[in-house]
Amino acid sequence: METAVALPPAGVHLAQLPPLALYVHMPWCVKKCPYCDFNSHQAKGEVPERAYVAALVADLESSLPEVWGRRVASVFFGGGTPSLFSAGAIATLLSEFRARLPLAPDGEVTLEANPGTFEAEKFRGYRDAGVNRLSIGVQSLNPKHLRALGRIHDDAEARRAIEIARASFDNFNLDLMYALPGQTPEEARADAQAAIDSGAPHLSFYHLTLEPNTLFYRHPPPLPDDDAAAEMQETLAAMLGAAGYVNYETSAWAKPGRECRHNLNYWRFGDYLGIGAGAHSKLSFPDRITRSSRTKEPRGYLERAARSEAVQERHDLARPDLVFEFMMNALRLADGFAVSSFAERTGLQIAAAEKPLREAEARGLIERDHERIRPSALGRRFLNDLLQLFLPAC
Ligand code: SF4
Repeated sequence: METAVALPPAGVHLAQLPPLALYVHMPWCVKKCPYCDFNSHQAKGEVPERAYVAALVADLESSLPEVWGRRVASVFFGGGTPSLFSAGAIATLLSEFRARLPLAPDGEVTLEANPGTFEAEKFRGYRDAGVNRLSIGVQSLNPKHLRALGRIHDDAEARRAIEIARASFDNFNLDLMYALPGQTPEEARADAQAAIDSGAPHLSFYHLTLEPNTLFYRHPPPLPDDDAAAEMQETLAAMLGAAGYVNYETSAWAKPGRECRHNLNYWRFGDYLGIGAGAHSKLSFPDRITRSSRTKEPRGYLERAARSEAVQERHDLARPDLVFEFMMNALRLADGFAVSSFAERTGLQIAAAEKPLREAEARGLIERDHERIRPSALGRRFLNDLLQLFLPAC
């Protein structure tokens, strides 16, 4: 199979820079979940809120030369469990960000929250601080599965969290998983129905996978087999579609107009500055596109951010990697991408990807005309096979 992308000899040239988003990583959780491979750490006692807020501000301050003059279209507080931080801390951060970077007045500001940390007053405080979208890590509404997943909350707390979110935010997401330990298709259907009944404008349904460096990977629980998981996926797709949700990205479902703008920017190969422990950034310049990451371990991050040394690794993206990374994001979207956006975001001509695109088309994995390229139903189902075609040749 030929997969190498053909590249002209000229360098990257970006006529304009893409939209910019700000990601803020909050690395602590009450307890580490056995399936989680995020950069999250069990908090020993209170989180060091004041020190971490100061570190984030110092981190942003030292990153400003990379984003001078650019407007931030969205902010996302992710984790970890950002809702372990007080509303006052989030208010301080947002006002410190605004003092240093122009945030779009209608910008989406999302905060991830764990149902085990919900108090109505705190969530009203987040809203008053400027958060306008909540993302709630519900995972399931079945008490048996919540226990199997090692979650700190039960189904009653999850339902209460949804009630509190609905009272203060008109825009919120529920994160859920399927193919859970011991889960039957009927139980997956009940979770999907509960999610629909919640009225959430956005739902994310992830297939539980066993990631290396997790407890579940070392001690795998009994999981539904591939056929059962596929049946669950088809059932929930039919239910969510009938309820008016559009599956605009592999795992994301939204009522029309409620797509997550911050995540859409990732999938459209936009720019993001990530601050906080272990946060990743992708930033474009007229002649290059860079990726960087910050120190992962929270204590080390606190020390290094104070010395303006939070960035641990930084590199320019090589041109074959640009093709793969663009496709890896854009082909997750049901609507794919505008052909013109490939050159706008990568600085390369679409001809650089012609060979794998032709192969993908011949195998029925994409559909294209002169304006758009999108994954076919087959391509969405076998996304990994589709993306492999764009892997740089070794
Ligand atoms: S609460 Fe979320 S981030 Fe924290 S350990 Fe569990 S899955 Fe990971």
